[in-house]
Amino acid sequence: MIKAITGTKDILPEEIPAWKIVEGTVEKIFKNFNYKEIRTPVFEETFLFARGIGEETDIVSKEMYSFVDRSGNSLTLKPEMTASVVRAFIEHSLGKQQPLNKLYYISPMFRQERPQAGRSRQFHQFGAEAIGSDSVYLDVEMIQMAYEILKSLGLKDLTVKINSLGIPESREKYKVKVREFLSDKKDKISEESRKRFDKNILRIFDSKDENDKRIMKNAPLILDHLDNESKESFEVVKKTLKMSDILFEVDPYLVRGLDYYTKTTFEIISGKVGSQNALCGGGRYDFLVEQFGGLHTPAVGFAAGIERILLACENEKSLKLPEEKIDLFIAKLDDSLSQKVFELALFFRRKNLSVEYDYLERSVKAQMREANRLKARFVLFIGGDEYKEGVANLKNMETGEQKTFPLDKFELVSDLLI
Ligand code: AMP
Repeated sequence: MIKAITGTKDILPEEIPAWKIVEGTVEKIFKNFNYKEIRTPVFEETFLFARGIGEETDIVSKEMYSFVDRSGNSLTLKPEMTASVVRAFIEHSLGKQQPLNKLYYISPMFRQERPQAGRSRQFHQFGAEAIGSDSVYLDVEMIQMAYEILKSLGLKDLTVKINSLGIPESREKYKVKVREFLSDKKDKISEESRKRFDKNILRIFDSKDENDKRIMKNAPLILDHLDNESKESFEVVKKTLKMSDILFEVDPYLVRGLDYYTKTTFEIISGKVGSQNALCGGGRYDFLVEQFGGLHTPAVGFAAGIERILLACENEKSLKLPEEKIDLFIAKLDDSLSQKVFELALFFRRKNLSVEYDYLERSVKAQMREANRLKARFVLFIGGDEYKEGVANLKNMETGEQKTFPLDKFELVSDLLI
């Protein structure tokens, strides 16, 4: 039997209503904050992600779905959106049209991670990027939007964690301090962390190894090594978050896996989804646009994983799913009336009603079972003596009440249904 690829998942009709609620909430809240949707291709040149996200990050070094196409180009299925949005921003000179571009997206992403609860190989993110301002209020806006979306989905068990990674100069100086701190402990840290020591030393803070964690508890903290500019902006972030009634924790160990972040970074954690508990993450990236060849353009963004959010919603039982109903089921008492039923269904469907009828030549009893299963609000019976007399019965399934209509006056029926 052919099966879906490991780490990918079909989203079946019964799961769609929850997805629609998430997508609708995301769209509504981004609209409230005046973000405009952007859609970019599913694949890009491999170089874009390698350069943008950073060669030494987990995503680029281990997880990308890269392939060579028939023309010999190395292409990659997008593992995240920021690099693609920045590419589109530069390519279409969006910065010339308006100084600040506030953009959002909802899109599948692809990473070849080890499949486990909370980690799949095709997953979906929504997120936002504000490109063109270094206003710290945009940093807070990102956290607010993410928080409002999660709250609107009924989630309660949330923790907002914030940190500042400083500007590149202060971060480089800080990395030297961490290197000094670890230089005599290199043989005590895990093999994975030893690799990170040379390539991406701050990622050692993300190590899941208990011994590494114990060692890193005593490491110098980035917040004690911030430049003044980053320190001041971090103070404003904290003050403004308090003003917005968002409880947060300062987490000096929050370094995030991607290279391009500067100053504010944040994550929102759920207490209800197991070990892969980050629902979303983001931060400022003031140098990515120029790194891709654009003008210096400060920016900030975040991305959230829809599957993890849905898992949190399920575990917190927070979503009120709408009851799926149809307006009308047309039951035929006689198979010779198939053509008539087909015509009637089209008539009512064109009146913007949701209509179903039987295609399987089932008995009237079975058709009624189907009408009940579909939670039809009304059933129209076509056939029998009534049909010969030029009328049909309409049954209101909620009240049980029945009405007779002339077959040539069906506008009356549709008026009743609306
Ligand atoms: P990142 O782009 O790595 O900062 O991830 C942002 C969010 O996307 C995470 O907080 C998760 O909710 C989600 N996410 C990242 N990787 C995966 C994955 N492999 N499977 C499912 N969700 C993911």
